[in-house]
Amino acid sequence: MSKANSRGIVAYMEAPGVLRLALATVPEPESGGIVMRNSLANVCGSELHIWAGKHPVKKRGGLGHEVVGTIERLGDDVTMDNRGQPLAVGDRIVATYFQTCHRCFHCLEGEYNLCDNAYEFFSKQPEEAPHFHAAFSTHSYIHPRQHVYRVPDGLSDEIVVGANCALSQVMYGLDQINPGAGQTIVVQGAGGLGLYAVAVAKERGARVIVVDSVAARLEQAQAFGADAIVDISQHPQLDERVRIIRELTDGRGADAAVEVAGIPAAFAEGLQLLRRGGRYLVMGNLSPGVSIDYDPGLITRKALTIVHVDRYDGRYLWKALCFLERNAARLPLDRLSATVFGLENVQDALDRSLDRSVTRASIDMRSIDAMLEQLESDPDTQVLESGAPQNEKTES
Ligand SMILES: [Zn+2]
Ligand SMILES: [Zn+2]
Repeated sequence: MSKANSRGIVAYMEAPGVLRLALATVPEPESGGIVMRNSLANVCGSELHIWAGKHPVKKRGGLGHEVVGTIERLGDDVTMDNRGQPLAVGDRIVATYFQTCHRCFHCLEGEYNLCDNAYEFFSKQPEEAPHFHAAFSTHSYIHPRQHVYRVPDGLSDEIVVGANCALSQVMYGLDQINPGAGQTIVVQGAGGLGLYAVAVAKERGARVIVVDSVAARLEQAQAFGADAIVDISQHPQLDERVRIIRELTDGRGADAAVEVAGIPAAFAEGLQLLRRGGRYLVMGNLSPGVSIDYDPGLITRKALTIVHVDRYDGRYLWKALCFLERNAARLPLDRLSATVFGLENVQDALDRSLDRSVTRASIDMRSIDAMLEQLESDPDTQVLESGAPQNEKTES
């Protein structure tokens, strides 16, 4: 695999809903860079947004950002990860899907999760070297300013594959509102982010109440440690849900809440579920252009603190790995397991995730030799070469 001019496969979106498979030469890493051989990647909600053509800018390019793999080629002076652990070819690693440039306004302010140049490479078109910009490919090119961490031996690919998006972001977000021992936090939404939020809040010592409308998701939340659940389908009126949360919190409301429902109305509801002085983390609502009615006076009268987070500080990927190491034996992480597709079926994985016939999809790239051979022998296979016409610069 690591012959100097060997090629790998890039699956990229030609246009929304249209996938193409192409070959590209596996690059030699620059000083400080790493070429990772991808093992397993997840389809994340943000990909579906792009796949459905709803992203304001990104209409073409590589997809995928939750990925784990092994080091295939190391740049000259790469000797350790961001934790100071030695790195060698063959080590299993994860990396942030964005870089932290340490040269922009936000980095200078210490707001590393908001780096202006986060997607400088991630958003490049596949024709542009080093071609392997996104995770649905046999390889990922990791640039010198991306955080990279060696994966603890005891953690399977299936358990760590989501660490560099969902879990890191949840841990970073919860650190902004600090739910702790003796406190109650409401988690709005029991999808992947919500389940991680339950587990992380429990480990911090908080009591957790989960609000969702799907019984199966609420059961999962209990398996992840939720102390109480509120089923919206059983309690369709907001007033009822406010009353239940008050009853569970000595009549005051919750100390903290996290919105991972992705539904605009959940924001207005969260304001009502909190106690005076409560802290609210808003993370699930990220599509622009949707408005709701809410009462700004409620925020003032209750003296609420509202925090939103976008991405995370790269250090949290290390914290996420440590969390998984501490909790892998205790948490039913296998319940998050995904429907697995091969790299040749990325189109299917995206389509079925979008029409919701699959709730979680992973792309398994651990054995691609036959596919590579077939693409190599097909004269119609596209070969990505630098210098091809570029599309407009996009942002994820
Ligand atoms: Zn993601
Ligand atoms: Zn920056």
